[in-house]
Amino acid sequence: MVPSERSSNEGGLVRNQQTLASTVTCSGVGLHSGQSASITLRPAPPNTGIVFVNRSSDVDAYLPVSIEHKIPTELCTAIKGNGFQVQTIEHLLAALSGMDIDNAFIEVTATEVPVMDGSAAPFVRLIQSAGIVSQERKRSFLKIMAPIEITDGSKRVRIEPSPTPRITYSIHYDHPLIKTQTYDYDCSVGTFENEIAEARTFGFLQEVQALWARGLGKGGTLDNTVVLSGDGIVNQSGLRFDDEFVRHKILDLIGDFSLLGMPFIGHIVADRSGHALHTRLVQQILSQPDKWVLLNVETSEVAVHASPYSTPRQPAVALQAS
Ligand SMILES: [Zn+2]
Repeated sequence: MVPSERSSNEGGLVRNQQTLASTVTCSGVGLHSGQSASITLRPAPPNTGIVFVNRSSDVDAYLPVSIEHKIPTELCTAIKGNGFQVQTIEHLLAALSGMDIDNAFIEVTATEVPVMDGSAAPFVRLIQSAGIVSQERKRSFLKIMAPIEITDGSKRVRIEPSPTPRITYSIHYDHPLIKTQTYDYDCSVGTFENEIAEARTFGFLQEVQALWARGLGKGGTLDNTVVLSGDGIVNQSGLRFDDEFVRHKILDLIGDFSLLGMPFIGHIVADRSGHALHTRLVQQILSQPDKWVLLNVETSEVAVHASPYSTPRQPAVALQAS
């Protein structure tokens, strides 16, 4: 059985699940493929989670956002299964997570989510234009009870018990605009919208040129990537925040943690981390069920109310263990 407990009001986090009030679409190009792509966000029933839908084939194929579908990629986060794959999902997933959307279908027409301006802000505006509605089921949380840490040389990411969800991220680069940047994020919709969502992806000029030479980053432009030169940035428009770089790393982590399948309650501390370590931590959490509990799970009701395309709102390991 899944370890679970019910709480009267765990740090004020108990609330109903949420989905979109209406259907919305946006279009752009994929950062890595350069392909034009559009996504359509649709409301989904309670306990569905976030599910990609491939509508480019004759029969719709469904791919739930889950760590079990993650595939190795160099520069972005991608999932694959049920006959299709989709990459660069992290900024869209960050927007859905940051805006407290529990259930949504994401229809895709290409193998990559459009990069838009390189941040999550266009997706936040899209979600706001759709509207957000409360649903008749309680939201579940994975609450961390003991620390779990991953290291890889000087890179490190750790999650430890905390009464509320929180992320502290540090990056270090030998560049005058970055040096050491640390940001402490108390997860909330308002803070996400105002402090995190606008932060854009970034790269160093030499790396960007090397990527282009390898045929990668085909959709990358100064309109969707902050490009660092030797002592400044190439973009004429300047930075949105002095510490935009570390804020974007938090944005990426929020998106990557969507692969957990439900919101967490704990404190993530990351130092020089990235997509690979973020997703390894998700895997480690799910493989160590003695270090967390599920809160507010309405287990008996999941099967009754789930749609044919939905997945129960439990982590993959819990499903295997039951
Ligand atoms: Zn990113």
